[in-house]
This record gives sequence, structure tokens and C-alpha cells, in this order.
Amino acid sequence: MDRRQRKAISDWVSKGRVLFGEPLARHTTFGIGGPAEVFHEPGDREELVRILKFASQETIPVTIIGSGSNCLVSDTGVPGIVISLAGRLNGFHIEGGRVTAGAGVVLGHMVHRCLQAGLAGVENLVGVPGTIGGALVMNARAFGGEISTYLDRVRTLTSDGKEQVYRREDLQFGYRSSSFRPDEIILEAEFHFEAGSPEAIADLQKRFLSERKARQPLNQQSAGSVFKNPAPD
Ligand SMILES: Cc1cc2nc3c(=O)[nH]c(=O)nc-3n(C[C@H](O)[C@H](O)[C@H](O)COP(=O)(O)OP(=O)(O)OC[C@H]3O[C@@H](n4cnc5c(N)ncnc54)[C@H](O)[C@@H]3O)c2cc1C
Repeated sequence: MDRRQRKAISDWVSKGRVLFGEPLARHTTFGIGGPAEVFHEPGDREELVRILKFASQETIPVTIIGSGSNCLVSDTGVPGIVISLAGRLNGFHIEGGRVTAGAGVVLGHMVHRCLQAGLAGVENLVGVPGTIGGALVMNARAFGGEISTYLDRVRTLTSDGKEQVYRREDLQFGYRSSSFRPDEIILEAEFHFEAGSPEAIADLQKRFLSERKARQPLNQQSAGSVFKNPAPD
């Protein structure tokens, strides 16, 4: 990327953050990864669209990350713009059994808010790190439950900044996989959950967390399981 391109990016970004040569080790749970040529945390959707359009016009590669809890980044770093959505685009709304969450919402926040609202389904994912965007791309799954089961709709952006809405039936999900295109960015998702007893949900969460603690070295840097878990995982 040349000086003009770097300057254009720093001049625009006012609500979010832009860093040059930011070590990605700071943004992955493995704690490894070389520098991002440009590291950007968008302040809002408009800033994200603007940077994507610029990158598309200038043919600058773009890489999206959430919390970096399923990323293994080379020590040589990542060319172009790395956009981190962790904690960004973090709108969250519950109405009845319907939950709308921005891509940067931490999955644990949704798990906790569903417990408070007496909504059952997502408690299996207690203790899974990451964002809603990352959870959907990876189809986060634990103790036999996966996030795509409760999905209704997803709003995405193409790499040149165009919005698209998918219904659940437009998408395919598999074991830690989804049909989102690699250049597609998840902005927001809508889920539906069943009403449940907060006490029963809390008991399940407690059980899942203690099984997780017994099976995983949570004090070590990792990206969770490396090998495929035998069913039911
Ligand atoms: C201790 C530990 C335990 C774990 N346990 C589990 C488990 O039980 N079950 C499980 O399924 N996983 C588990 N994981 C793996 C990981 O937490 C999940 O895959 C998580 O959903 C990844 O979310 P993230 O935001 O960190 O995504 P990242 O790691 O940042 O990104 C993962 C992928 O998603 C893409 N991506 C992220 N956000 C977006 C977006 N908004 N739009 C488009 N693409 C995007 C990235 O480009 C990348 O390809 C574990 C990880 C750790 C460290």
C-alpha cells in the first residue's frame, strides 16, 4: 500500500481506529501473528462501507476478523487492510423470543442476555469465545447445539460495500462451516429462541461450563479444538 492510500485511510477514519503495522498477536487467542499492514476497527457501518469501497477501487486485499479465537496468523503478517469487528457493530435488541445482534457482539453477551430474558437454546454455547459474526461463519457448536439452529436472517456486505439479506433457508451450515463467501462480511443477525425457565437454563450453563473447564486447558493460549470432535460434541 502506498503513502497516498495510507493517508486517505487515516484522514477518513474519525469514529473508529486505524493502526499501521499492528501486531495481530494482540488480536488472536493463540497470541501469535505478525503485523497487519493496516488494522482498522470501524466506528460504525458507514465507516466500514467507506473503507471497503476504497479497498475495492484500489484493489487492496481485505481480511475480516472478530475476536480472533479461530485464527492462526503467520508471523509474516497480513498485507492490505485487516478489519476487526470485535466490540464494533455491537447493537443488541431482544423482543419476545426474537434477538437481533450486531456482528461484533460477543457471543457470551448474547448467551447471558438470553438467560436473563428466559430464552432457551443458546446456553450450549456458554464459554465459547468470539463474536456473533465469527460464530456464524464457523457455525459455532458445543454440547450438541449450534448457532445456525436459531438463525432467522443475516445482513451482510459484499467486499465492495453492497448490502444483502439472507434468510436461514438461503444458507448452508455444516460442522464448523457455513456457505458465506470468503469476501462477505456479516453485519447483523436475527435469531429466534424458545421461552424457558431461567433456573433450568442457568443449571445447564453451569453444567456445560464445568464440563468445558474439565476438558479444556482454558488458562493456555489456543483456538479451542484442533481436531474434529466425535458426535455429539
Ligand atoms: C478456548 C476456546 C474454546 C473454543 N470452543 C469452541 C467450541 O466449543 N465450539 C466452537 O464452535 N468453537 C470453539 N472455539 C473456536 C472459536 O471460539 C469459534 O470458532 C468462534 O465462533 C470464532 O469467533 P471469532 O469472532 O473469534 O472469529 P475469528 O476467529 O475472528 O474469525 C473466524 C472466521 O470468521 C470470519 N469472520 C469473523 N467475523 C466475521 C464477520 N463479521 N463477517 C465475515 N467473516 C467473519 C473470519 O474471517 C475467519 O474466517 C473455541 C476457541 C477457544 C479459544
